Amino acid sequence: MSLQEIQPLSFPGVEDGAPIIIAGPCSAETAQQTLDTARALSKMGVKVFRAGVWKPRTMPGGFEGVGDRGLPWLMAVKRETGMMVATEVATAEHVRSAMDAGIDILWMGARTSANPFAMQEIADLLHGHDELTVLVKNPVNPDLDLWLGALQRIRNAGITRLGAVHRGFSSAGAHLYRNDPQWHIPFELRRHAPDMTILCDPSHIGGKREYVGSLSQLALDMGFDGLMIESHCSPDQALSDSAQQITPDSLKVILEHLVVRSGTPLDDELALLRQQIDDCDHELLAVLARRMSVSREIGRFKKSHNLRVVQPQRYQDMIKSRLSEGEQLELHPDFVQRIIQAIHEESVRQQL
Ligand code: PEP
Ligand code: MN
Repeated sequence: MSLQEIQPLSFPGVEDGAPIIIAGPCSAETAQQTLDTARALSKMGVKVFRAGVWKPRTMPGGFEGVGDRGLPWLMAVKRETGMMVATEVATAEHVRSAMDAGIDILWMGARTSANPFAMQEIADLLHGHDELTVLVKNPVNPDLDLWLGALQRIRNAGITRLGAVHRGFSSAGAHLYRNDPQWHIPFELRRHAPDMTILCDPSHIGGKREYVGSLSQLALDMGFDGLMIESHCSPDQALSDSAQQITPDSLKVILEHLVVRSGTPLDDELALLRQQIDDCDHELLAVLARRMSVSREIGRFKKSHNLRVVQPQRYQDMIKSRLSEGEQLELHPDFVQRIIQAIHEESVRQQL
């Protein structure tokens, strides 16, 4: 059973070809917050509701979700609004509880899909439950094989209603977004699973609410089949991922302005290459910003120690070492020299 054969997901009430919108809070916090958010989303036409009850947090002490207690709240949403309901599972215990409660859609988060043991444990429990819809988010690290492997484990368990969610990748250093999109990876995934539904999660990629709209449009333009967006009735009070959650009203505005174009498939060769260029430029700019911030730090140090800003020997050594590094990377020496000079000039300006 290969990923090549996976068919697109369909959801009641979502027209064929229209983007699939999954929305709801990062976490179900209280029955009231869950229902209030769901009612607002349902009223504007959202057909699939998401809410996490088990939250993998990077640091202990963060809000780890309400646990099993939240499952009846999701089921109440389903009963009252008719929306399909989705939650994140990370262990066999979660899967059992979610299936017993009657949850329609299970998704595996980025920390889980990075862990083959956890994925296999979950897959083993899913055998024979082909009524379930399963979504696999990309692993935290930019490793296409790990993502493919996680999907394949679920597929091997006989799940046919299977899709993927792109939520970006952790990366060191300052970046514009919370999680680096590295769009070429979902593009590559498309080549391995041409018909499988691939959604984009602009909330976890952007990490800030102001990025959700533009990332959503970008995702559709790149041929994603839909969006998973975090929406909370009072985002500023949210117990997890507060900065990236948007109100149902804001989501409505975003959805109303989304332009659905055709003819830009996710496997378009040129789009893939351009996206890689965009990713590189994002990285370049983030690295430059980091470098300038170190320069300012050095500037303060030199000032407090009464040192000259430009020290010629240091500059000579730096140019020499960069030229030799550049040569090893097959970059033209004139090009490297021009870039390093420009960076150094700006760095001196910052130090002053
Ligand atoms: C989430 O969807 O709330 C979540 C925790 O996602 P991710 O696994 O992408 O971080
Ligand atoms: Mn979240």
